[in-house]
Amino acid sequence: MANLKFAGLAATVLKSNFSKLDRPYKLNFAITYWCQSRCLTCNIWQMKPKDELRIDEIREFARKNGHFKWIEITGGEPFLRSDIVEIVKAFHENNKGLYLLTMPTNSLCSRDMVLKKLEEIAKTGIPKIVITISLDGYREMHDKVRGVPGNYDRAIEMFKGIKKLSRTYRNLNVVFGYTISRFNQGSLPRTVTEVMGEVGGITPNDFHINLGQLSSNYYGNSGTPVTPDNSAIAGEIGWLMKARKPSPSPMIVMENMFIKKLAEFARTGKQPMRSRSLEASLFLDSFGNVYPSIMWDRKVGNIRDYDYDLSGMWHNETAEEVRRSIEKGEEPNQWTACEAYQSIGGGVLKLIK
Ligand code: SF4
Repeated sequence: MANLKFAGLAATVLKSNFSKLDRPYKLNFAITYWCQSRCLTCNIWQMKPKDELRIDEIREFARKNGHFKWIEITGGEPFLRSDIVEIVKAFHENNKGLYLLTMPTNSLCSRDMVLKKLEEIAKTGIPKIVITISLDGYREMHDKVRGVPGNYDRAIEMFKGIKKLSRTYRNLNVVFGYTISRFNQGSLPRTVTEVMGEVGGITPNDFHINLGQLSSNYYGNSGTPVTPDNSAIAGEIGWLMKARKPSPSPMIVMENMFIKKLAEFARTGKQPMRSRSLEASLFLDSFGNVYPSIMWDRKVGNIRDYDYDLSGMWHNETAEEVRRSIEKGEEPNQWTACEAYQSIGGGVLKLIK
């Protein structure tokens, strides 16, 4: 079954090289904006969100949109939603082709609670679950960038706990997620080296990289000096590319391509590949608003106004305008992990030519 679901996702990605997809295969869903971090790179933690989607609404959305093969659940801190297992189950039960579930955590919730919920999530049988432990520096740097003393140690313990659980549940995987920003630029080699020393048995392939970027409809950080200095980070991205090992794993192959293009993005400031927003993917926030991506403040509609069914919204006037903008190359410059994989997947034949 897992192989069949992987084949289904791979076939859809391949198809996106030849023709426009009529419905998205990836959902980026911020299930809550509540967050206990105090990150310098993101203002979500300052929000006091009200009227977020309830579990009955999420179930309805999952029931009416059963075409997702990859779901990225994000936040805020996803584990602050006490119904996180029910949310995952709603998507699992209604998306028969669901192969991949990805989810970050800031490691600030109780480790026992997170491990217990992850065990329940792993038991659903979703073929591949990847948990990303946010880690933006070595001990002092991470705690400074994230604004919570002791967060580094909790992140390391959370990683170890999930790694141990993954020996029982082979569909469960864990990596570190490192965001390069103006606040920690230059710290990546030291961080990777020190973390490998503390955790043991991991390699640079266990680090997933992102670039601090500005977004008014997600991070709420427009006007904040987040973006790193391009020349300063070129060296550390280059270091990581050399340190990472080749691997036949599709996830590692994609990640290596993502990092290579990230270096290009940092160097040129230009998006290296065409966006697949509102074709392969969408961003749904915790209030039901749909955007092309986390970086594109162009609201397409709210699922509450469309009876939780995306099909009514998918070709509305705004959605078509967004697609025309992409065709004309007018989309905002972005290269985030939430969007880039769909661009790489949809342009993979060009890349290997
Ligand atoms: S980056 Fe993540 S952990 Fe930090 S404030 Fe934003 S949502 Fe919270």
